[in-house]
Amino acid sequence: MILKNKILAKSKYKFFNLREYTGKRGKLQPKIYTASEHKISKSQIDPDALTVVETLIRAGHKAYLVGGCVRDLLLGQTPKDFDVSTSALPEEIKPLFRRCFLIGRRFRLAHVQFGRKIIEVSTFRKGDNENESLILRDNDWGDEAEDVIRRDFTINGLFYHPHEETVIDYVNGFEDAKKRTLCCIGSPFVRFKQDPVRMIRLLKFRARFGFAIDNEAIKALVECRKEILKSSPPRVLEEFLRMLELGTSERFVKLLAECGFLTILVPGVSSFLEKPAGKEIYNFLKHVDAIHRRGEPTFARSVLLSCFVFPILRTHLQALHRQKTMHLGEIQEEARFIVDETFGPFFQIPKKIAAVMVSLLTSQFRFTPLIEKKTPRNPKIPASDEFALALDFLRLRALEEPELAKLYEEWNYFWRKKEKQRKVSSERVRTQ
Ligand code: ATP
Ligand code: MG
Repeated sequence: MILKNKILAKSKYKFFNLREYTGKRGKLQPKIYTASEHKISKSQIDPDALTVVETLIRAGHKAYLVGGCVRDLLLGQTPKDFDVSTSALPEEIKPLFRRCFLIGRRFRLAHVQFGRKIIEVSTFRKGDNENESLILRDNDWGDEAEDVIRRDFTINGLFYHPHEETVIDYVNGFEDAKKRTLCCIGSPFVRFKQDPVRMIRLLKFRARFGFAIDNEAIKALVECRKEILKSSPPRVLEEFLRMLELGTSERFVKLLAECGFLTILVPGVSSFLEKPAGKEIYNFLKHVDAIHRRGEPTFARSVLLSCFVFPILRTHLQALHRQKTMHLGEIQEEARFIVDETFGPFFQIPKKIAAVMVSLLTSQFRFTPLIEKKTPRNPKIPASDEFALALDFLRLRALEEPELAKLYEEWNYFWRKKEKQRKVSSERVRTQ
């Protein structure tokens, strides 16, 4: 059991009650850590993120790097992206940059673009850590202390000041990172009810960093888990998909199962995982994780989600096949049904991704038909990118069943040949 005692940190229940703090001392005082203490080197920071912070400071605003990037730098990892938090209002941020877009209604922020890269800039916000009701909008501006206090976990509540090269800590996140512990900022019961997606995020950081979870947070997780159904499905799906891309998805899905979230969110997957064939889902995730950890390109989301559906679909088709022979058209219908059923009723997989999944799953039964057949000598290869994704999935299957490796090579060869022809003929069209 991943969540057994050894990972439970000694309960260190933190209430960051702003009224309490500001009452006595006038202002919440941060701890400041210098470069020799935090060991973050400025050279690890994206130069465009530094430009954004410097531009804001030059315009007379306060600005810091914040959240996941500071946490990752502190843990010696490479941040995926860099976020900036500032005293400037969205309307004040926009004119300072050549390409800047204001986005979001629930959470209004600025996207500053540098080529394809985006630096997210958000204005300091005031949260309400004591109100249990679900947060629907979060656009009340505040000061920097209020901004960290409304964040989810202490390790995500750190600022980095690039000029002074200091880490500014209002919530004891620095110490928690050193102790490898995940603590909510405020009462976990309240914070999870306010935004149940935080529970999924907690498990995501547990899977990613292997940190212990504060006792109270575990209790709250068990008590509040059904609240997850009140969250917006696209937000939960986004956290889920991001986790599948990060190299620790197997551990994450095991945690979701163990804490009861899979039964609530994807009951079909949860019950399948309890069967012997269910192991195959974890095995696929293990291969995906190994590939992502090697730094190879991330699999498409349709391929990642198919890791859950394929074993279920194959078991289903094998049962049907015992009653009657099935052709590819029927298999496609069944794939559509299983994709809908597996991720319903909570998640609504975007239609485009679902359609690609149906196509790549159906192709698996061309590669390995239900009735054993030899690979055709010169098979028809559809001129679509979906077929490349079907091959990506066949690659994962070949890692799971090494006897498929040769088949994968053969189909890959046909596909490359077809691609070459496609390029030659499109060049011919262009030159005609
Ligand atoms: P990742 O590395 O997966 O991006 P992250 O912590 O950076 O992890 P983001 O979604 O990029 O996650 O969020 C950036 C920051 O915003 C977080 O570090 C945290 O401070 C804050 N945050 C994100 N989601 C929430 C939430 N649901 N409640 C409170 N604060 C949040
Ligand atoms: Mg982030």
